[in-house]
Amino acid sequence: MDKNARIYVAGHRGLVGSALMRDLERKGYGNFVTRTHAELDLTKQAAVEAFFASERPDYVFLAAAKVGGIHANDTYPADFIRDNLAIQTNVIHAAWKSDVKRLLFLGSSCIYPKFAPQPMKEAHLLDGELEPTNRPYALAKIAGIEMCWAYNRQYKTQYLAVMPTNLYGPGDNYHPENSHVIPALIRRFHEAKQAGAPSVSVWGSGTPRREFLYSEDMADACTHLMALPDAEFLPLLGQDRNDGLAPLVNIGVGHDLTIRELAETVKSVVGYPGDIVFDASKPDGTPRKLLDVSRLNAMGWQARTEMGTGLRRAYEDFLSAKSSEST
Ligand code: GDP
Repeated sequence: MDKNARIYVAGHRGLVGSALMRDLERKGYGNFVTRTHAELDLTKQAAVEAFFASERPDYVFLAAAKVGGIHANDTYPADFIRDNLAIQTNVIHAAWKSDVKRLLFLGSSCIYPKFAPQPMKEAHLLDGELEPTNRPYALAKIAGIEMCWAYNRQYKTQYLAVMPTNLYGPGDNYHPENSHVIPALIRRFHEAKQAGAPSVSVWGSGTPRREFLYSEDMADACTHLMALPDAEFLPLLGQDRNDGLAPLVNIGVGHDLTIRELAETVKSVVGYPGDIVFDASKPDGTPRKLLDVSRLNAMGWQARTEMGTGLRRAYEDFLSAKSSEST
């Protein structure tokens, strides 16, 4: 990927997309093409094809998706499957039509079976039943992986699917119900601290285990993979085989913690003095989700940001987002 390469980051205002833009700029890239959601609706095929035909990007980071936490996935299943299938189908096909050199398709660790052996390897894809709360989203993402692979085999394209673990960082969605656990807890502990509330409610039993990756580390991993020399990149793509090992690379930190431990860490970062109460009426979701990152490590990449550092930065971002809201 030379420094003048024309780069399209789809979803450049999102959690990963915005981190990708910062990371690429830091690394000396500057020839970007971006569109806001209002300017280009990626679910509209004709609009996406016209955009690619006129802008002709060399590299595409497909970080645009309809995403949300356990509650949002459960409440809007039709939106999650429809929008994601449409976005990825339109972008991948238009990328092929306009001869994009490389494309990185961003998925999620929820594509793996609910009871996959831990840590989850790329080879566990389609090995068992999915977690029902986010199955529509997961199936859309699995279709996206299969689509990258199919294009690689039929058209010799260079499309790689990457599966990040749970992400958090600046620009996250802090919605009280529809967000993921970290932004939800940051907000809840902060508001409880402001209100002097005696306790904070955390969903589920506190026993599920999750792995969390800071968004800037995720962006760094993506640009690292996208810029690999052919000798390392091409063997990841499955262009000449149909052997069950999809062109897939997990992106994670390699260790996890319980929701209880997470809640305690967020409580201390926010400086909330009260108690934590677990609300068993809310769902736990998958018992454990830890990625095996040996494939990524073998490509020469490792996560850097400690959980405490990442959470402190995320809390600062939440505070500045709040203060710009109120001004
Ligand atoms: P998941 O990894 O797909 O299950 O996504 P989430 O980030 O939504 O949830 C992760 C875990 O955190 C689940 O076990 C939730 O029950 C738990 N959790 C605890 N409190 C909250 C909360 O306020 N919001 C969300 N989204 N999850 C919470």
